[in-house]
Amino acid sequence: MANEQFIRCPNCGAQIMFDPYALVRGERFACPKCAAVIGLDPGSRDIVKNTLEELETLKKNLGKTKPDQPSF
Ligand SMILES: [Zn+2]
Repeated sequence: MANEQFIRCPNCGAQIMFDPYALVRGERFACPKCAAVIGLDPGSRDIVKNTLEELETLKKNLGKTKPDQPSF
């Protein structure tokens, strides 16, 4: 099962496929068009990690209720 998501390249606007979990682990992703590198500052990792964990918790707790307000 893939966790890939897309992020827009800040340099050329191309869609870059990335795995948010790998990003949290400190991996970097290069833009296929302009080779700009997307990565996280070490200080940002905890924030993203917490956000991902909250998201997972939300998914688990959603059950049959309707998500009317995405929290991210
Ligand atoms: Zn680019």
